[in-house]
Amino acid sequence: MSRGLPTIVHLDADAFFVSVEQALDPALRGKKVAVGGRERGIIASASYEARACGVYTPMPTSQALRICPDLILVGHRDGMSRYGEFSHRLFDLCETVTPLVERRSIDEGFMDVGVCGFRDEAGVVSAMRELQARLLRELGLPVSFGLASNKLVSAVASKQNKPRGFTVVQVGNEEAFLAPLPVGVLPGVGKKTEVLLKSNGIVRVGDLPAQPEALLASLLGSGWRHVVAMAQGLDESAVGTESEDAKSYSQQETFRCDIGESATILRITKGMIDNLMAKVRADAKRVRTLTVKVRYQGMEDDSAARSLPEASDLESSFYPLAESLLRTAWRRRTSPLRLVAVKLSGVEGQARQLELFSAPGAGDERKRRLAAAVDALNLRGNAPVQHGHQIKHKKSN
Ligand SMILES: [Mg+2]
Repeated sequence: MSRGLPTIVHLDADAFFVSVEQALDPALRGKKVAVGGRERGIIASASYEARACGVYTPMPTSQALRICPDLILVGHRDGMSRYGEFSHRLFDLCETVTPLVERRSIDEGFMDVGVCGFRDEAGVVSAMRELQARLLRELGLPVSFGLASNKLVSAVASKQNKPRGFTVVQVGNEEAFLAPLPVGVLPGVGKKTEVLLKSNGIVRVGDLPAQPEALLASLLGSGWRHVVAMAQGLDESAVGTESEDAKSYSQQETFRCDIGESATILRITKGMIDNLMAKVRADAKRVRTLTVKVRYQGMEDDSAARSLPEASDLESSFYPLAESLLRTAWRRRTSPLRLVAVKLSGVEGQARQLELFSAPGAGDERKRRLAAAVDALNLRGNAPVQHGHQIKHKKSN
């Protein structure tokens, strides 16, 4: 075991879905490209050229096409299987370096290279540079790397210089590295908390440890000591090799203007379920519980959750729940919403074998094949790649 070396690596593919599309079709490289649904769609991934035009994730496709009319929109490929395949190849290449690889999502993970016998920092850096180059050369995937002494700091580091970033935080420099960054980089410090901290003059990570304990406790609740420990760059969690670490799948969308029409909200909610379910399938998982959260103009939240009798990896299983949960969560129906969030939890592994012996499961399997076939037909019928301005939009209401 090496000591004093930044042996924990976080890697995060840049604009993953778009990068896969660009790897499969080099004509898309260097262009304003986004992967997303066309009908009640949400942008799932946008190239850096598209981001420069104001397109972000997740944004309704219609809005993306409005602000970036020459956006090239690519539909999701048949049930994500190609994306899953690139993801597997990415992590397989990581495993040629170290057996300790923790896959956090389809395009993000940790590696512990402390078991590889590197003698100095230069050795770690050159091995990781080589891996980064290999991922680009062999898979066509640009990936950003963060190297540090622990998972928390490496995960923040990998986000710093995207795309194709490579950020090393030397051992002992963790707190100094985090100090100038906005408090929102710390995991668990969401937008709401960030706004609250800012209004109390706590803007950067380095502002946190110096605050009086009573103030931190009042702002952050009982978890304040943990937040201060993170601000000091402390984290002792180990890189695990279980992919079960992904305990839930969630996505949220903050609207530019508050939305009051329930049809629009439902469309956005279903679009997020589609996106998340594609990730669930790519991870070979199923989920049982759907949580829908809404936020009103005044930042108050309401939420509702319900579970299916059996875990599923089909979005259609959750559509009826989505509609009723939205009705339950949106208690103040006359107040427009500023945010909607969706969480899928109760993650289980896939159990396709079992389905062969149970009637409802067999039905699901048929639905799944049908969905994949329809996806494939759609892709063949319409040109899979269309320019944004060629696409007519139906009014959502
Ligand atoms: Mg990524």
